[in-house]
Amino acid sequence: MSNFVWCHGPTCHKSHTQDRIRGVKGSKVLRTKKVQQTQWSQNSFYSKFCSQGCYNDFANTHIQEITAIAPRTEALETPIDVVKQQARDWSGNTYMETKIITVDNG
Ligand SMILES: [Zn+2]
Repeated sequence: MSNFVWCHGPTCHKSHTQDRIRGVKGSKVLRTKKVQQTQWSQNSFYSKFCSQGCYNDFANTHIQEITAIAPRTEALETPIDVVKQQARDWSGNTYMETKIITVDNG
């Protein structure tokens, strides 16, 4: 038994590729691609889309609904320390390196 979902890309069925061609001569169509479901991919967008392009098309079409799921109404911040230290490049020359170190306040 095949375990799949149809690609959620809104224009997946409009891409001119041979693997989308279905039907008999005189009534051929370009069909939305199947996306096989595997255990490892269940939490990945690749479980719902056949390609990065179809994912982008979906996200661009539904951006208002997607961002409404988890609105960002204020900036988030990560506490850090900024440390300047001398370092050497591949040929032995010294330079000042800036390191950003996350501070765990938890
Ligand atoms: Zn697709």
